[in-house]
Amino acid sequence: MSTPTRAEWEQRFQSLTIEGRAFIQGEYCDAASGETFDCISPVDGRFLTKVASCDTADADRAVASARATFESGVWSRLAPVKRKAIIIRFADLLEQNAAELGLLETLDMGKPISDSYHIDIPLSARALRWSGEAIDKIYDEVAATAHDELGLVTREPVGVVAAIVPWNFPLMMACWKLGPALATGNSVVLKPSEKSPLTAIRIAQLAIEAGIPPGVLNVLPGFGHTVGKALGLHMDVDTIVFTGSTRTAKQLMIYAGESNMKRVWLEAGGKSPNIVFADAPDLKEAAKAAASGIAFNQGEVCTAGSRLLVERSIKDQFLPLVIEALKTWKPGHPLDPETNVGALVDTQQLNTVLGYIEAGHADGAQLVAGGKRTLEETGGVYVEPTIFDGVSNAMKIAQEEIFGPVLSVITFDTPEEAIKIANDTQYGLAAAVWTRDISKAHLTAKALRAGSVWINQYDGGDMTAPFGGFKQSGNGRDKSLHAFDKYTEIKATWIKL
Ligand code: NAD
Repeated sequence: MSTPTRAEWEQRFQSLTIEGRAFIQGEYCDAASGETFDCISPVDGRFLTKVASCDTADADRAVASARATFESGVWSRLAPVKRKAIIIRFADLLEQNAAELGLLETLDMGKPISDSYHIDIPLSARALRWSGEAIDKIYDEVAATAHDELGLVTREPVGVVAAIVPWNFPLMMACWKLGPALATGNSVVLKPSEKSPLTAIRIAQLAIEAGIPPGVLNVLPGFGHTVGKALGLHMDVDTIVFTGSTRTAKQLMIYAGESNMKRVWLEAGGKSPNIVFADAPDLKEAAKAAASGIAFNQGEVCTAGSRLLVERSIKDQFLPLVIEALKTWKPGHPLDPETNVGALVDTQQLNTVLGYIEAGHADGAQLVAGGKRTLEETGGVYVEPTIFDGVSNAMKIAQEEIFGPVLSVITFDTPEEAIKIANDTQYGLAAAVWTRDISKAHLTAKALRAGSVWINQYDGGDMTAPFGGFKQSGNGRDKSLHAFDKYTEIKATWIKL
């Protein structure tokens, strides 16, 4: 699949009709209040569309629609093999509309079109397809009972799932939730981020085309503190599945406690350590991975390798390799197929990132690459990939999630010290270890308090492996069959024979 040129993407934009309304009971509709907000592209400040600003009234309608559809059994009681076929068709439709969805994703959140088109959209389709394909291959259990009893252990859909997702991989994060939620027979209310709602809104129509009954997938764009909060507090939402910041994740736990004790599954922030030992098999490869680990998706990645822990004996040799590798990651126009670093999602995020760069200076870290806003003349929101050397793990830039392309380099002397620094964080999402010593690799991996550990690579994994966090990076897992746990209740049925 070759990528069209920038001019071709601009041409497509001219003929694009962008939908900004909510989607309830199989139809696009305005927010009950009639309120909208402007969707502005961070690429160059262009206006994209007006988006419905949903609130409590819309949440009530969408949840009622999801509940009625769930109770009707039109989806929840459909044979798994039939749900499978429809979900696979839904995945096919994402792929058939990859150019439109990729363009929307890039214009809406600023990521390079090559990433949207070749990574985000195909992996979103894969997430749906993988879950759909799995659903008619999962069996329930028979308990080890006495001879005159039969104990059935069965899984049932939880009911109404509210999925609240972030802006960094808008469609992919939505599909990590939608795949298992729909496959297991639930009805869903999807709330995309106010910063990137367009692909979620668009795929609601594709779901209907695929054969998913109206009311099974509703989409409510709007602000977190209004429509997100309304879903969090809703008495008829059975489960919240969330990806986003740790701050919002904690708020959702409070909402659940204040309302109906709905299940709350959280995929939250990270501050992942990337540990390079002196005996790494290939320092050049490790340097390349360190650069992509902080620059890919403009550093707006929950698993960004934002803390680079380097053994002191190779620091002077290794850091120049990282600086060199980072030069290949250059901000450019996101619709240019050669661009590998796009725009940050908005001015607010730019100011956050610049604020952390200032904090790095103020705390005495040494800037060795980047550090400034760039391409301001485009009207877009871009920042240079940045490296601070001489960082101590206590500094603000080493403790807080920046969610931008800012790398902190920290040195260590022993494996024990590396592990201690790596684990000295509120987060526990991911970590990487570079060494050719197999025992050191495994012992370090075991000691790291993180949901994913990569050895001699950064950012491995696919739908076949679970993904999620220890500590304040969340609970539960997305992807793989483990994800199905979030969307099902377990029932024990005892029969006296
Ligand atoms: P965010 O927490 O600000 O927003 C996430 C979603 O929650 C959005 O849809 C937002 O509208 C909504 N929201 C905000 N306040 C709310 C409230 N009070 N009640 C209900 N909903 C509310 O996060 P973000 O800035 O969109 O995303 C970035 C964060 O997401 C980072 O922390 C990143 O690490 C995390 N993330 C985690 C994973 C993972 O799998 N662990 C993946 C991607 C991103």
